[in-house]
Amino acid sequence: MTKESLMSAQLTSPDALSELLKHHRKATDEQGVVGLEDRKQRLQAAIDLLVDHHEELCEAMDADFGGRHPGFSLMNDILGSLGSLKHARDHVEQWMAGDPRQVFPPYDQLGAEAWVQYQPKGTVGIIGTWNAPIFTLFSPLASALSAGNRAVLKPSEVVPKTAEVLARIVGEALDPMDVAVITGGVEVGQAFAGMPFDHLVFTGSTEVGKKIMRAASENLVPVTLELGGKSPAIISRTGDIKEAARRLAIAKGTNGGQLCISPDLVYVPVDLRDEFLSAFCATYQELYPTVAGNPDVVSVVNDRHMARIDGYLQDARDSGVDIVQCPEEASVASGRKRPLSIVINPPLTSAIMRDEIFGPAMVLLTYSDIKHVVQEINSGERPLALYYFGEDRAEERFVLEHTRSGGVTLNDALMHAAMEEAPFGGVGASGMGHYHGREGFLQFSHPRTVFRGAPVDLRGEWGVLPPFAEQFAAGMAAQVTR
Ligand code: NAD
Repeated sequence: MTKESLMSAQLTSPDALSELLKHHRKATDEQGVVGLEDRKQRLQAAIDLLVDHHEELCEAMDADFGGRHPGFSLMNDILGSLGSLKHARDHVEQWMAGDPRQVFPPYDQLGAEAWVQYQPKGTVGIIGTWNAPIFTLFSPLASALSAGNRAVLKPSEVVPKTAEVLARIVGEALDPMDVAVITGGVEVGQAFAGMPFDHLVFTGSTEVGKKIMRAASENLVPVTLELGGKSPAIISRTGDIKEAARRLAIAKGTNGGQLCISPDLVYVPVDLRDEFLSAFCATYQELYPTVAGNPDVVSVVNDRHMARIDGYLQDARDSGVDIVQCPEEASVASGRKRPLSIVINPPLTSAIMRDEIFGPAMVLLTYSDIKHVVQEINSGERPLALYYFGEDRAEERFVLEHTRSGGVTLNDALMHAAMEEAPFGGVGASGMGHYHGREGFLQFSHPRTVFRGAPVDLRGEWGVLPPFAEQFAAGMAAQVTR
C-alpha cells in the first residue's frame, strides 16, 4: 500500500485492507493509551460526517430500496446512528473511569493494590446489512470508538449506492487510521471475515453468521454476531387488545417489515382473534391507506427478496390457510411496494413458520393456554426480540422467567432496541455480544487486571515457601473449610 493510498479511508481491495491493518497494528502499539480526547475526537468526526452528508445518504437509501421515505431514513439510520455516537461521546469519560478492585487478604493489609484497566482491543471490523445500512455500521462503531479502537466498515452490496456514498465520504472526511470503508460483495465479505482483526462485528442472517464465526476462528478473532430470527408477540387476554393491535401494526409497518426485531409470529387468544385482526388492520389502513405510489410504504429491497416473500405466501395458500391483507383494497400488487399479508394459523411445517419473514407479512396464531405459547416459543430457536402485551403482572413474570430472547418490550414493540443506555444483542441463534451503553464499551475493551505487589513480602515468615516445613501441609489442610 502506498503512502498516498493510505491517505484515503476508501479501501479498494482486501490487499489494501490487509496493509492498512498492519499500519493500524503498528499505530496501536506505538500510541499506547488512547486518551479521552482522542476517543471523543473520533466519535465527533463520525457525528460530523453524518450531519454533513445526511441528505446524500438518505437519497442513496431511497434509490437503493426503490422507495424509502427520506424522513424514515433520517429517523432510522441517521438519527439512530447519531443517538449512539452522541451517547458514547457524552458517556465515554464515565465508562473509562478507574475501576479499583478489592485485594484479597492478607495482601490488602500489606499495601498491595489492584484495578482493571480497560484497554482498546485494536481494530474492529464491522460488517453491515442492507435493511438499516447506516445504523448497522455506525451504532456498533460508536461502541468500538468509545473503547478506543480503530475500525473498518464493510457495507452491504445489496444497497450499492449507499455503500458508494459512504465509502466516498468516509474516504474524504475521516482519517484512515481511525475509520476506513471497504466495499464489495460476498467475496470481499469472505476476505474481510478472514482478516486478523482484533474484534469482528457482523450484523446479518444466522446462516451467514455461522460462516463469519468459522472464518474468524482461523485467527481467533472474537465476534459479536447481531443476527435475526422469528420474534414472537404474545397478546394476553388481560390487556387492552385494541391498543396492543395498534402498537403492533405500527411496529410491523416499520421499514416494510424489514427489521431484525419485526414481529413475525403473533399469538392471540382464540376468542379475540377477530377483534385483534380488525383493530390491527384498522391501524395499518390508517397508516398506509394506499400502497401503489405511497411514499410512506417502504419497498421490499429487491426482486430476490420479493420472490422469497411471495414464495412464503404461495406455500401458505397451497396449504389452504386464510390470508388477510391490509389494507384490504390493495389487492393489486404495486411493484415491490406491498400491502401486509397476515397468514392465519399456518401448519408448523410451512416455510413462513420456519424462516425469518423480513418483509410485509406476518403470522397470526391463535391460542387457548399461554403455557402452550411459551412451550412453542421455547421449542424454536432463541429469538432476537419478544413482545408481551397484557396487564397481569404474574403472567408477565411467567413469560419473562420462562422464555429467552435477545431483548424484550412489554406493552409495545421495537422500543428496547432504542435504549442507548442498555445492551442490544441476541442470544443463541439470534446472536452473541452487544453494543449500546457501557456494555458496548466493555464489549470492545480488554478488561486487563493489574496487580501491584505489596512493599513487603512475608511469605517466608508465614512458612509457605519451599523448602516446605513439616507443618506446611497441615497448615494448608486446616484452611480447607466450607
Ligand atoms: P446477510 O447475512 O445476507 O448479509 C450481511 C452482510 O454479510 C452483507 O454485508 C454481506 O455482504 C455479507 N456477507 C454475505 N455472505 C457473506 C459471507 N459468506 N462471508 C462474509 N460476509 C458475507 O444479511 P442481510 O440480508 O444483509 O440482512 C438481513 C438479516 O440481518 C436478517 O436476518 C436480519 O434479522 C439481520 N439483522 C440483524 C440485526 C441485528 O441487530 N441483530 C439488524 C439488522 C438485520
